[in-house]
Amino acid sequence: MNKNVIQGLDICYKTANILKSSYPNEIMKIKPNDTILAFSKQTTRKARTKNMNAYAFYDRKTHRVIIKQKVLDKRLILRTKVKNQSDRIMLSGNWAIIELMSHELAHHRTKGHAKGFKIKYKKFVNHMAQSVMSGEFYCEKISVKESVQK
Ligand SMILES: [Zn+2]
Repeated sequence: MNKNVIQGLDICYKTANILKSSYPNEIMKIKPNDTILAFSKQTTRKARTKNMNAYAFYDRKTHRVIIKQKVLDKRLILRTKVKNQSDRIMLSGNWAIIELMSHELAHHRTKGHAKGFKIKYKKFVNHMAQSVMSGEFYCEKISVKESVQK
């Protein structure tokens, strides 16, 4: 894995930890180096997926998020569609990864891309926007409260 991919994964974990600390019951347990993985031959077994057409994939059985290495490397993606196709603008840079993680994490215990998903996704993405703007996102340490989920 190249340096960008590793740094991209850091952004994923940071996003997950921030959201987990604010919404502990709505996100799976975040285990370092295990919950969020870059897609590769090595992670295929854990990921339970052999082909990756989407930018990322949430495995609702193992509670893992698998992300394409190209996404972590180049950070150029189309935004989640909320209302219509005009939502699907190109996102670039760190925000592309933060937005994608907000999307994938919103899939935990929320099926499909229907209304329930969209509400959760919007809540997560708005929280992350606040976190970036306030500077919280760029602070050294994010404390993750003990998970109270079953
Ligand atoms: Zn999705």
